Amino acid sequence: MQIYDSLSQKKAPLPKPKKGKLNLFVCGPTVYDYSHIGHARTYIVFDAFVKYLKSCGINVFYLQNITDVDDKIIARAKENNVRPLLLARKFEKEYLKDLKSLKITAVNKYARATEFIPQIIGQIQRLIEKGYAYKIDNDGYYFDVSAFADYGKLSRRTSGQAEDAISRIDQSINKKNKADFVLWKFYKEGEPFWNTPLGKGRPGWHIEDTAITEKFFGPQYDIHGGGIDLKFPHHEAEIAQQEAASGKKPLVKIWMHTGFLLVNGEKMSKSLYNFITIQDFLKNYPAEVLRMMVFSNHYRSPFNYTEQLAEQTTQSLKTISIFMSKLQFVSESQNKNRDKNKNYPTAQLISNFEKEFNAAMDEDFNTPKALAASINLISSLQNYIWNLSTKDAKNLIKLLQKKLKIFEIELKSTKIPIKIKALAKKREIYRGNKQFTQSDVLRGQISMLGYLIEDTPFGPFVIAK
Ligand SMILES: [Zn+2]
Repeated sequence: MQIYDSLSQKKAPLPKPKKGKLNLFVCGPTVYDYSHIGHARTYIVFDAFVKYLKSCGINVFYLQNITDVDDKIIARAKENNVRPLLLARKFEKEYLKDLKSLKITAVNKYARATEFIPQIIGQIQRLIEKGYAYKIDNDGYYFDVSAFADYGKLSRRTSGQAEDAISRIDQSINKKNKADFVLWKFYKEGEPFWNTPLGKGRPGWHIEDTAITEKFFGPQYDIHGGGIDLKFPHHEAEIAQQEAASGKKPLVKIWMHTGFLLVNGEKMSKSLYNFITIQDFLKNYPAEVLRMMVFSNHYRSPFNYTEQLAEQTTQSLKTISIFMSKLQFVSESQNKNRDKNKNYPTAQLISNFEKEFNAAMDEDFNTPKALAASINLISSLQNYIWNLSTKDAKNLIKLLQKKLKIFEIELKSTKIPIKIKALAKKREIYRGNKQFTQSDVLRGQISMLGYLIEDTPFGPFVIAK
């Protein structure tokens, strides 16, 4: 499998797992508000990425941090007059609830920043000893970017132009370089704090990730993922911290960044009223719709969300769902009228599909191409679905379910009510007696009740409209 590495800007082979497992870290949320569908995109992508690797027999350890101490949390807590850590716990709970609703289940370990303070302190102490960090009185400890020659290698920026995206926490007029970022912030009234050998205070934003990954994976590991917006300064800072602290490089073999999610062509923002939380989305559509939309775009490309796209996706899912129901129907039926004389290329289609699907996924996790292969298979089989053998239908169900499981797109065939089944049966009797007027009346009735009926060599196939 080849994956695009944002650092080298080239595709690289998937790292060979050491000691039987591949170590993956993805930046988790800062828990101060509800997560939106842009966050969901990143987490859905990595969920399926891990599930695909696992389906190929690769053992992955997927680690994610939770930023539960941060400027944004402190500011929001102040507004709401609650303790920052209580606010963080509330939104962590909401985050985990959202993941569950979206069927994101691949993460092995969620690591809260506040539970790794000793590791954070240890890493900062090493940076101080090695001359990469310095103290500003009554402020905190800062990382000196001029001491780390490789600073800027991920985002291809120089430290001179780096000040534009630095967050508020990193501002200090006493810094040596504009791009220097805070590692440890000394205590200010009303802020959460820890008493440590570095003084009373709290960690900066970037240091938690490398302290956590070093604890679980050591100073070097396989893949680091996250949204493209985190590339600078966050991921750049991570490289600087860990490579400076350990003297070993590279921090990771592959950097994977997911593209932006736009809403109606614009960046999501509360002032534009195009801000869609995961919970709001799920009030209108099932999780499968969001997942399917996410996978219909390559993970590195920008993804433009529109209501219209959600509607179209709902329709595509319905097409797949109807197809699966038809397969189910064939697999459960005895078909005496099946055209056995024609040589349908079912086996060929299935083997081509498997090849195409895996080739797409192995080529930088090209989910839109893999989905297109699935849709093509379905379209090709539509024409002679009623001529499939029971065995082929069963195999196809298994195959498609296995592939859709990677995406967590579960298509339950709708239960047909007894009343509808009875009407369909009655209609069959009329048809058998060539009483077509009466049978058409019943078709109309069934349709009024919200069901479609299709006559097949296996008898009537009924499906919800
Ligand atoms: Zn992070």
